[in-house]
Amino acid sequence: MVYMTDHGRTKKVNQGMRTGTAEWLEGVGAAEIVMEDTFNFECDERCMGRCCNTIKIILDPWDVESMARYLEMSGRDFIGKFCSLEEDQRSKWPYVKLHEAEKGPCVFLMEDGRCRVYPVRSRNCRTYPVGRAVRFKPGGEKEEKFFMLERQKFCLGHTSARCWTLREWLEDSDSPAYYDRTDQYFELIHYANTVLEVGRWMNSRTARIIMPFLYGPEVLRAKLAISPDGVGHEEFYTRRMKALRVLLTELAAGFGFGPLAGGTGEEVEDAGIMDKVGEILISG
Ligand code: SF4
Ligand code: SF4
Repeated sequence: MVYMTDHGRTKKVNQGMRTGTAEWLEGVGAAEIVMEDTFNFECDERCMGRCCNTIKIILDPWDVESMARYLEMSGRDFIGKFCSLEEDQRSKWPYVKLHEAEKGPCVFLMEDGRCRVYPVRSRNCRTYPVGRAVRFKPGGEKEEKFFMLERQKFCLGHTSARCWTLREWLEDSDSPAYYDRTDQYFELIHYANTVLEVGRWMNSRTARIIMPFLYGPEVLRAKLAISPDGVGHEEFYTRRMKALRVLLTELAAGFGFGPLAGGTGEEVEDAGIMDKVGEILISG
């Protein structure tokens, strides 16, 4: 059983995400910290966003949705303009990465060093310099570990006199709400990997089917006439994750995997399952 680490701010940390172990974080000297532990940190205005030039930022579905909404775009247009769509080598799971933040300035870094989407910056950007690893036990119980990440030499934030407890830092950055939504997503991926063995059957067709559930809420809303006034964004996100779990289970069954294995491979085309999934989106 492995931990899934939040995607960190550095390339090295993202390599850790792929290996997926809390032990890896410990291996690079990122000691575990608890809520009342303290550390010094504050972004330094002289820095002009140095970290925003050197990182790989993988966006969660909630990141994409929040940023797209903030910029008054659809999720699809947001990804088309600012991101690349990739697939995890092992699980074939589709994921979204912000353009250019790894080899050049992030697309949202402004000339004055500020972030154009700061109020909705991604979870990775929000929680830095704190890293976190989470795992789901077989019974579904969640276990979290928090880590202070490697101190980047170029980051002036660590020289600040401003002292925080971990609890204060997380609350100030509104991280718990982001962690909650990330964990719904992580739990889904964990289920898809371990129960449905998604890496053995995910292909471009099935990836296309699940994309609106991950990154295109507006597509589902339009199809089912669900307005944000009727079902708020947070609630709709939760329903999407729940509906996707049902849909993935049916898809897996068609390929002979998961608890419903033994189907014909055509189930997803069946009106019954799409009705069931639609009902979850409409009614919860
Ligand atoms: S001080 Fe550190 S975290 Fe802040 S902008 Fe600079 S490199 Fe990034
Ligand atoms: S989204 Fe904002 S905070 Fe995050 S890397 Fe880009 S400019 Fe920096």
